Amino acid sequence: MKEINHKEVWDNCLRIIKDNINHQSFKTWFLPIKPVRLQNNVLTIQVPSQFFYEWLEEHYISLLKKTIKKELGANGRLEYSVVMDGSSHNNKNPYTIKVPTSNRKATQNPSVSMPIDINQGSSKEIPNPFIIPGLKKIKVHSQLIESYSFENFVEGDCNRLARSAGYAVANNPGKTSFNPLFIYSQVGLGKTHLAHAIGIQAKNTHPNKTVLYVSAEQFIQQFIEAVRNNNQNDFIHFYQMIDVLIIDDIQFLSGKEKTQDVFFHIFNYLHQKGKQIIITSDKPPVEMKGIETRLLSRFKWGLAADLTVPSLEVRIAILNKRLYNDGIEIPYEVIEYLAYSITTNIRELEGALISIMAQASLNKKEITIDLAKQMIDKFVKNTSKEISIDYIQKMVSDYFNIPTELINSKTRKREVVQARQLAMFFSKKHTKASLATIGLHCGNKDHATVLHACKTVNNLIDTDKQFRHHVDELSKRIKI
Ligand code: ADP
Ligand code: MG
Repeated sequence: MKEINHKEVWDNCLRIIKDNINHQSFKTWFLPIKPVRLQNNVLTIQVPSQFFYEWLEEHYISLLKKTIKKELGANGRLEYSVVMDGSSHNNKNPYTIKVPTSNRKATQNPSVSMPIDINQGSSKEIPNPFIIPGLKKIKVHSQLIESYSFENFVEGDCNRLARSAGYAVANNPGKTSFNPLFIYSQVGLGKTHLAHAIGIQAKNTHPNKTVLYVSAEQFIQQFIEAVRNNNQNDFIHFYQMIDVLIIDDIQFLSGKEKTQDVFFHIFNYLHQKGKQIIITSDKPPVEMKGIETRLLSRFKWGLAADLTVPSLEVRIAILNKRLYNDGIEIPYEVIEYLAYSITTNIRELEGALISIMAQASLNKKEITIDLAKQMIDKFVKNTSKEISIDYIQKMVSDYFNIPTELINSKTRKREVVQARQLAMFFSKKHTKASLATIGLHCGNKDHATVLHACKTVNNLIDTDKQFRHHVDELSKRIKI
């Protein structure tokens, strides 16, 4: 009987909660909860993450208490069971059960002082790009872009979790359980903007902390430079002084073992010292390729939050904000038309807006819906043509009816090998990716395999009619 009971009790609780908060919050914070058991008047509910638990504790504790009291009486209690990633063997995140009254983790970092002077006691000049020469203390230029602030970041369902976690992290760097904060999405959905916003906010609220934004590409370049100049220690030293480290587009570390290695050590050092790490990526940790397992498992320590495609309302709000900031007015129907036409990439949406404004001022034309239509036709045609390896794989796997996972597996079955080779061939043809990158994404093969695949496909096109038919069909599908 108990099995049924906990569900019923929780359903009743949900009914009360639903009446007391807005729909969006209810959807975000209560629907994902699963009732687990009811024993001795203790209702256990399962929540998806530590962050989730903390959020409930912070924002809904009194509502929860009241609700439980109503359902289970004055002795009723609530316990949380936090789902953790069982695959990673880090002991920071054991499978834990928390009671609502317990307090937040108090991992204080010891008084964070200004960066130390690593020039002291050494006459050697340290050619670190972030050091302004002539200064005793190391000044870290944060590399933050002012306009990428929280104020300019429009909130919506598409970014609510990432945004609020980012905000929490910025106000309390290193002291929340979202460390690292891992933000992921497809291109043009606001990762870089949000990452800067966190940095700016962290700097404003904690002027003494050293905040650094760096793209993974820049990090790699600096490391190569450090190796060349034989001062890797200075490089590591530099990064170990950062209080809030933001690394953008971490996927670029894929396949770069040495850089991953050094990042691994920096990560561990900072994490241990209670420093905040923010990472962005084009994929969630589980889907990343060419990144060492030990790094991936660390990415899962904190919170991974994604940014999704914004709704029409949010797209309109973003355009309006842009226009307002620039002090420009354009007819509402034009804004709406833009927001309707460009749906999956905010950067393209803004690009279209800028093109229309440029076009109008160049030709001294008014911004009208007709002008917008002309521009959009050109714009959409020109830009939405970026084809990714993943997209090609999907096309090939759909065509042959072979799951993508199989194409990416080690299988040597004939038809799978052929599909894999075709995926490689089309990736080479339609993307700018290197042979090595293509190999990495198609079953973790090396560049020689990709080269061989391209040759094989070309040979078969010339000699095998059936095969050529497949290639023609696939070409049509991929070019849509
Ligand atoms: P990503 O790093 O994911 O490729 P960006 O952060 O570069 O995306 O965002 C692309 C553009 O869209 C930027 O100009 C950014 O300011 C804008 N943008 C993205 N999300 C928002 C948002 N929620 N509110 C306002 N502008 C946004
Ligand atoms: Mg970016």
